[in-house]
Amino acid sequence: MENRIRHARTHITRNEDLIFERTSPGKSGVELPPLDVPSVPADQLLGSDFHRDEVEGFPEVSELEVIRHFTRLSTWNYGVDTGLYPLGSCTMKYNPRVNEVVARLDGLATDHPYAPEALAQGCLRVLHETARCLAEITGMDAVSLQPAAGAQGELTGILMIRACLAERGNPRKYILIPDSAHGTNPASATISGYEVRNIKSNAQGCVDLAELDRALTEDVAGLMLTNPNTLGIFEAKIAEICELVHSRGGLVYMDGANMNALVGVARPADFGVDVMHLNLHKTFTTPHGGGGPGSGPVAVKRFLEPYLPLPVVEKTADGTYRLDSSRPKSIGRVRAFCGNFGMAVRALAYILANGYEGLRQTTEDAVLNANYVMTRLKDLYDLPYDQPCMHECVFSDRRQAARGVRTMDIAKRLIDYGFHPYTTAFPLIVSGALMIEPTESAGKTELDEFIEAMRAIAEEIEEDPQFVLKAPYSTRVSRLDEATAARKPILRWKP
Ligand SMILES: *Cc1c(COP(=O)(O)O)cnc(C)c1O
Repeated sequence: MENRIRHARTHITRNEDLIFERTSPGKSGVELPPLDVPSVPADQLLGSDFHRDEVEGFPEVSELEVIRHFTRLSTWNYGVDTGLYPLGSCTMKYNPRVNEVVARLDGLATDHPYAPEALAQGCLRVLHETARCLAEITGMDAVSLQPAAGAQGELTGILMIRACLAERGNPRKYILIPDSAHGTNPASATISGYEVRNIKSNAQGCVDLAELDRALTEDVAGLMLTNPNTLGIFEAKIAEICELVHSRGGLVYMDGANMNALVGVARPADFGVDVMHLNLHKTFTTPHGGGGPGSGPVAVKRFLEPYLPLPVVEKTADGTYRLDSSRPKSIGRVRAFCGNFGMAVRALAYILANGYEGLRQTTEDAVLNANYVMTRLKDLYDLPYDQPCMHECVFSDRRQAARGVRTMDIAKRLIDYGFHPYTTAFPLIVSGALMIEPTESAGKTELDEFIEAMRAIAEEIEEDPQFVLKAPYSTRVSRLDEATAARKPILRWKP
């Protein structure tokens, strides 16, 4: 009853029922035209195995109810088009609309992946050009656009390292991974058949060369390194690190998810990286689709090219494009066709729209923005690695934790100030991390608003920590049991 009264007040702000709760027998959102052929019972056509009279619990609602329900729900979303989205490690930058216009062009959007090469020259050229641009940006020699995400790019890269070392006589046993790495790194190495050995970072948050030296035994296949690392710090000794790994017969994999800090300024190939991936859905402005298509191209040095996934798009001597599937050393296919083609189209549109100068500028702006946030918050939030950062900065909740307020509580309160939270509790080497990545998309006004919100929260915590512990106050529901929501989601309404 109370619910109903609340609902009656305003449609826009009310807590939406499940669509299942709106059901009313006999209602339907569709009306089919009268049959102009004789009717046949469905189970006669399909067989009774494939025919159901009723879908249990299926909501019976009108078209308008469906439209209103989902339109209202859509207004609850917070996205990169709504405001600052400073989720560290995720590069939640603006997705320019020109990318969408280009991706929807008829020939690009509707070409079939089985179209014969002669009829798919435009699409093949898009793939070839995108790979060529990414090769130029990274300094690497060859690129595959096939992997569908960063993590799959890692898997592809490590499988190539394995194939290469196996051919040299011994695939070896271990992959070294710094303790600041993204969780996907050890997962990818393990799935590729390696055992993971962690190496500790030094006081500056970077790879400790002495520690690396000790760990580099002759059964180490390689090092997986993120640069800049997940603390937003550039591994200044990267060239020495690569040299050391190479001198012991290992290879260097670079997790390039943080390329937003390097594009147009530094090329991983130049500092010795053998293979890396990029995240088109981070650095190159293709949308992060809630679990939907992403793209994690891998880029390699020439000696790893024979191992790239198949098919490889090639440009022939007469200027046409073809798919090469005849490379006996290839690790095989990691994804259908040439990967998520639409992502390549969007990334190419972004790269060409910006050009060299524009890409360099985005990098410089991303780094400037992160340093601005870092500098303006470090008097109120503990900065465990106090040095200029790259595209993101990482605070710890040490000072607030002394008053019982942790990074997650601060993040919840930030929602009341109208911002998407930063990344909480990652990287793991910082206890109670607040990882902030504003990206180049944020202008100064918005950054200042965010900084003011963070400063106000720090003051609230000084004055009344209990108040902050119960945030958020402005949302339809406040503190959720997030673990249960993720592990045991209730997706069906049961009357
Ligand atoms: C995002 C990210 C990944 C994984 O990329 P997905 O596309 O989410 O699989 C790997 N490493 C780092 C450092 C990242 O930030």
